[in-house]
Amino acid sequence: MLGQMMNKPLLISGIIKHADRYFGDNEIVSRRAEGDIHRTTYKQLHQRAKQLANALAKFGIGASDRVATLAWNGYRHLELYYAVSGSGSILHTINPRLHADQISYLCNHAEDQVLFFDVTFLPIIEAIAARCSTVKAFVLLSDASHLPANSVIPNLLSYEDFIAGHSCEFEWPNFDENTAASLCYTSGTTGNPKGVLYSHRSTVLHSFASALPDAMNIGSRDVILPVVPMFHVNAWGIPYSAPLTGAKLVFPGPALDGKSLYELMEQEQVTFSAGVPTVWLGLIQYMEQQKVKFSSLKRTVIGGSACPPAMMKTLRENYAVEVVHAWGMTELSPLGTTATLQAKHLTLPKAEQDALLQTQGHPLFGVDMKIVDDNGKELPWDGTTFGNLLVQGPWILDHYFKNEGGHVLEDGWFPTGDVATINADGYMRITDRSKDVIKSGGEWIGTIDIENVAMSHPAVLQAACIGIFHPKWDERPLLLVVLRPNVALGKDELIKFFDGKVAKWWLPDDVLFIPALPIGATGKILKNKLRETYKDYVLP
Ligand code: ADP
Repeated sequence: MLGQMMNKPLLISGIIKHADRYFGDNEIVSRRAEGDIHRTTYKQLHQRAKQLANALAKFGIGASDRVATLAWNGYRHLELYYAVSGSGSILHTINPRLHADQISYLCNHAEDQVLFFDVTFLPIIEAIAARCSTVKAFVLLSDASHLPANSVIPNLLSYEDFIAGHSCEFEWPNFDENTAASLCYTSGTTGNPKGVLYSHRSTVLHSFASALPDAMNIGSRDVILPVVPMFHVNAWGIPYSAPLTGAKLVFPGPALDGKSLYELMEQEQVTFSAGVPTVWLGLIQYMEQQKVKFSSLKRTVIGGSACPPAMMKTLRENYAVEVVHAWGMTELSPLGTTATLQAKHLTLPKAEQDALLQTQGHPLFGVDMKIVDDNGKELPWDGTTFGNLLVQGPWILDHYFKNEGGHVLEDGWFPTGDVATINADGYMRITDRSKDVIKSGGEWIGTIDIENVAMSHPAVLQAACIGIFHPKWDERPLLLVVLRPNVALGKDELIKFFDGKVAKWWLPDDVLFIPALPIGATGKILKNKLRETYKDYVLP
């Protein structure tokens, strides 16, 4: 017997309709690529999304056609999120930090029909337009006054001209909730990027779950500034979960430096934010230099790479900001786990609580996980045994776009490529990405632990640990360190600092102090690049 409840599909258009109808006056504030601050509301945003939907239909964009964006976090980008997916087409958000060759590869691979871009990216579009063979129009996310006088870009329009004259009346179509809604490519640190094609159902379910109190914990009284870009796994779903809950949105546009972020947070009284650790590094440095504090920020989700415990401590103790450590992947929409305490943990000693909060966290409802050995045998949840992490759930990838890479699941589970432990309560701790792990004499050394210890030294700003060829042990750890400004630290002193914090055989064989670490398109340290740079390095 079937249930007798309404069979309403979970569609992305439902989110913006809800935000318009029930939170219509709530604001969306954007620092535009043009430089100024722009204010709108969910009601107005919905109107313009419908206007854009009419313009796209008139242009000939149909069901499942791909529409690409190369854009910062901003209200026009949000209009595209709703107009494109809401109409049944597919929003393809491209990371502008990728190399121009990769960007044109992605446009062609996705067969994008229109490409919308911010004025910042005009030079990229000029360089690649001729190579994007499926793109019928390039639309600058601004008005006509920002169009370049003599551009080599064919079929170049301004966004405001593109939507002008179209009606704000539009009936969002009804269709199967499993219809594709948006397309994000993984960063492709090895080989070409692969596309992850989200559905309306996966997106809406992910939005519900990610807003829950033990995940992002967001609601209609929040003011959210997503530092994580809308071109990086849909800004971790915030463009959907904020309107779903009615939260005010504040978009930083291209200004992601510490000063600009701090000022915008204060000006708009932001309560919640989210981003990768490298962004917080800049913000904290600025606040330390200026000796300023937050007056409204209460919580932040940090993920994308391991959040150093020292950063959590600084944010909590010096700035009264609660840090929720999260783990996810493009293939997981992206949220998989978040680290918060349960009632039974509240009486634990602080050190034990901190240890739990420093893990990558506990799965959200909708995500199931396990760790296995190289033969696929499930490993115990004892908090120390580590193995390959596998996940499954309704917002987790089944196969890549155009079936790139073929069948990827193992017995119905998605292999994450991460190596992790899980404790008896289901808290997962990533020890490494399997390709970053150091194999020393047949045993594994987790580089994240080594980096976290190094970064808890007050003189260390950033650290990365990589495996270097060793004639006896196969690989041994080399630690690369960026020091804070105007401090001195010797190699021996830093190695001594590791005493009692890691097993003796995990100690780095050498430490190099370098001016900066290479950072990739999603704000993560590029270990593959470091391995390439130091591949001939001879350990002492
Ligand atoms: P890519 O960088 O390959 O595009 P993603 O942005 O999807 O991929 O990153 C996913 C990977 O980032 C995970 O598999 C994991 O290795 C790493 N990651 C994400 N969050 C964390 C975290 N909190 N701690 C450690 N690693 C993390």
